[in-house]
Amino acid sequence: MNNNFHDPRLILKKYGLYPKKGLGQNFLISPKVLRTILQASEITPQDTILEIGPGTGVLTRHLAAARCVVAIELDETLVQILRQELAQYPNIHIVQGNILEIEHPQLVAELCGIEKNYKIIGNLPYYITSHAIRRFLEIQPSPSLVIIMVQKEVAERITATPPKMSLLAVSVQYYAIPEMVTLVRRTAFIPPPEVDSAVLRLRVREHPLFPDIPSDIYFRIVSAGFAQKRKSLLNSLSSSLNLPKSRIATLLDKASIDHNVRAEQLTLEDWARICRQLMECESYPTVR
Ligand code: SAH
Repeated sequence: MNNNFHDPRLILKKYGLYPKKGLGQNFLISPKVLRTILQASEITPQDTILEIGPGTGVLTRHLAAARCVVAIELDETLVQILRQELAQYPNIHIVQGNILEIEHPQLVAELCGIEKNYKIIGNLPYYITSHAIRRFLEIQPSPSLVIIMVQKEVAERITATPPKMSLLAVSVQYYAIPEMVTLVRRTAFIPPPEVDSAVLRLRVREHPLFPDIPSDIYFRIVSAGFAQKRKSLLNSLSSSLNLPKSRIATLLDKASIDHNVRAEQLTLEDWARICRQLMECESYPTVR
């Protein structure tokens, strides 16, 4: 791999470029981290891969081992360079665009002829991580696997378990099983970012976790539970859903959940039991 590591610094130098801070450009200069990302991606010759933020293509050229690759890059200059540098790989398609706006499953279908079971791999600016992950999990058809470089703290929040759950953790774990693949020091990038990073892998669930509960109901209840951080679950649900405390208390009893717990302590299954109780009781129509 070391011989095969196309250091972003050489490409930048070759074209007389500097990393653009405004586009969150922190290029990977660690062959070891690159190897870890590739291993975590479990690439097979049948794979369809969507790479986001390819930069100078340090990872992209290794993805050519897959059947078809679409790489979306926002920076027009880098798009030109990538097209030139990767011209020898007919199965790699470089597209100029913004991952937060593009209908990525359609794009993959257009260029690769398939839109199911694709994988998303990338190292994106950290200020768009949450938004990007939400799009990856919500826009259908969703990928089967997501390997993404994120800020270390974000990886910890996403992989949290009770009593350290958050709305972000529940939202991601509802759709996928997250794993922290490895921690990455800031010195693995040029220029080094101000935070440490982690490679996060999301194995997207093939089937809905709670087929009997509409996802909008589930997220409405979870959001209501997390709305008032310092309050007990009972108080937070009652004020956010605008339902009397006595009603919520009965509902929590039926769902076998302690009145004094806080939202951070609940499992995804606990939330599902609360939703089922709410869906059964007469107040359900008010829960839009
Ligand atoms: N993957 C490369 C580059 C990482 S830097 C590497 O590891 O070296 C992040 C990259 O994402 C940059 O190339 C930047 O131009 C690109 N980028 C930033 N915002 C983007 C967006 N909204 N959509 C697509 N690419 C974006």
